[in-house]
Amino acid sequence: MPMYDLKCLNCGHEFEDLVSSHDAISETTCEKCGIPGLELKPSLFAASVSAGISGSTSSGSCAPGPFR
Ligand SMILES: [Zn+2]
Repeated sequence: MPMYDLKCLNCGHEFEDLVSSHDAISETTCEKCGIPGLELKPSLFAASVSAGISGSTSSGSCAPGPFR
């Protein structure tokens, strides 16, 4: 189960949570204010994986993250 970085759109609190699917994010509530409405931020792990996949197809004009 992937670990996602989530950011609350209500209070701006950022935290990590295990999310079973993208649909589950809309049902996940902020651990601080308890209000649903979270923005999904790509974690470093997910970013490195997606970068490896898309890197071969795109020219990498927008390389994400702190890597290189
Ligand atoms: Zn919140």
